[in-house]
Amino acid sequence: MINLKNTSIWLDSINQKELKPLEHNIEVDVLVIGGGITGMSCCYHLMNSNKRVVLVEANRIGQGITSRTTGKLTYLQDGIYRKIKNSSGTLNAKLYYESQKEAISIVKNIIDENKINCDLSLNDSYLFTNDKNKISNIEEELELLKSFNETPLKTEKLDIEIPTLATIKCSDTYVFHPLKYLESLKKILLKNDVELYENTRILSIDKFKDSYLCKTSNLLIKAKEVVLALHYPYFLDPFFMPLKVYLEKSYIGASKVENTHSFNAISLDRPVKSIRYQDDSKNKYQIFLYGSRNIGTNLNDKEHFEKLKLLPFNYEYLWSNIDIITSDYLPYIGKINHNLYLATGYNTWGMTNGSLAGKIISDLILNKNNRYTKLFNPLRGIKIKKIPLILGSSMKPYTNELLFPKKSWYKENLRFAKKDGKSIAIYTDSKGKEHIVYTKCPHLKCGLVFNEVEKTWDCPCHGSRFNIDGICIEGPSNYDISYKNDQEEII
Ligand SMILES: Cc1cc2nc3c(=O)[nH]c(=O)nc-3n(C[C@H](O)[C@H](O)[C@H](O)COP(=O)(O)OP(=O)(O)OC[C@H]3O[C@@H](n4cnc5c(N)ncnc54)[C@H](O)[C@@H]3O)c2cc1C
Repeated sequence: MINLKNTSIWLDSINQKELKPLEHNIEVDVLVIGGGITGMSCCYHLMNSNKRVVLVEANRIGQGITSRTTGKLTYLQDGIYRKIKNSSGTLNAKLYYESQKEAISIVKNIIDENKINCDLSLNDSYLFTNDKNKISNIEEELELLKSFNETPLKTEKLDIEIPTLATIKCSDTYVFHPLKYLESLKKILLKNDVELYENTRILSIDKFKDSYLCKTSNLLIKAKEVVLALHYPYFLDPFFMPLKVYLEKSYIGASKVENTHSFNAISLDRPVKSIRYQDDSKNKYQIFLYGSRNIGTNLNDKEHFEKLKLLPFNYEYLWSNIDIITSDYLPYIGKINHNLYLATGYNTWGMTNGSLAGKIISDLILNKNNRYTKLFNPLRGIKIKKIPLILGSSMKPYTNELLFPKKSWYKENLRFAKKDGKSIAIYTDSKGKEHIVYTKCPHLKCGLVFNEVEKTWDCPCHGSRFNIDGICIEGPSNYDISYKNDQEEII
């Protein structure tokens, strides 16, 4: 019988050596906050630059959004060129296409030069539809790719049994093991005098003369330049993140297979389907993503996992992941203030965009030109048409929470109470142990929803996640929700 694990295949197939937290105040040239693919890529391009470069990670390197990706390195994304063309014009769509090709070669070069073993596998990528109303979108994407001098093939079928009406196939794309890649980058960075500290959370950033003072709970880092590589930045009140982006959550399963295929695919249809294979020379897996939702809607995670389970696969792993969607489908990468840089909003394509962000931001810091700075300028305006979607997405869960604080699908092992005027929840696990947390997100006080499958408390407004004991595992929240005192009045 298969032992089903509610974690990602990547987290379960790697031993990450824990690094020490920062232990004293320091003064640095560049402080990179966040150890996902973005922060680690940025450090890679800054190493050997004669600058003191330090990366701090609130939890463990690579264990944020990057640890739950599907790990494709592809420029054939989910109809993205058509979307960018419609929001910002064909020239920008072409430049984005070029950026993604460049990102792939950046990662490939790093892997080749350093002989990194991260299960990199050359793949064809497919974009497909089985919806007759979407065939014209496939055709438009194909024509756009041709106009960029790409030579995609139009085919009717995938190499496996997924019904399709139209597909596009592109070559020279890859899949890899994102955490093996980051673990190798970690070793390279440490060898090249980049300092990496885990379990070191930055709680505030204040401008001080020409530098920034970045505070943890008990230490101070003075940095000439600061890179915010923390997925959903907490600190940027004037940047108005909640008014600029919304978030999407997707559900993924990995099951053992006899044979793998050297292709990956994604559909234009809803529910979205995405597939790739993973072969680490010991085990072969099919990784299948089925269904994405705006995080503010259809909040019952179990129901979404059940839909994934209806597919005829024997899952060994089930997990979910959240990414940030921008109003024009272009990431925010670049300078947002004097010597303050931001990289986020990858629209679910952060293996390429996070890797590229590392190069763009290091170029800005090292005063080198980069042809993508204008395209990804984080200070550009938002698309007005998208404002109702963005606002609706974060406001709806607030009202929903006021009307229905206890979700209809919650079981008896989840009780609610009030303590000192604050709402708490008590989850009793299968061994009878109680796990008590506050139920409001410390970020903007949105009511949290319990994800019964992964045993996490998830914020339906801005995507923060907390483990069963209330430890923050994903921002924007920068604080835990753990409740220490167990004297409650049950209501
Ligand atoms: C379902 C799904 C599938 C995907 N599949 C693909 C794919 O196949 N290909 C692709 O290109 N992209 C994919 N993506 C997108 C990609 O995974 C993400 O965009 C990317 O991993 C984001 O990387 P990051 O470094 O920005 O964020 P993270 O990996 O989340 O790193 C940010 C880090 O910052 C840390 N941090 C936060 N706050 C602080 C603080 N205050 N102090 C210190 N550290 C802090 C966090 O702990 C975290 O480790 C997928 C996304 C989803 C949702």
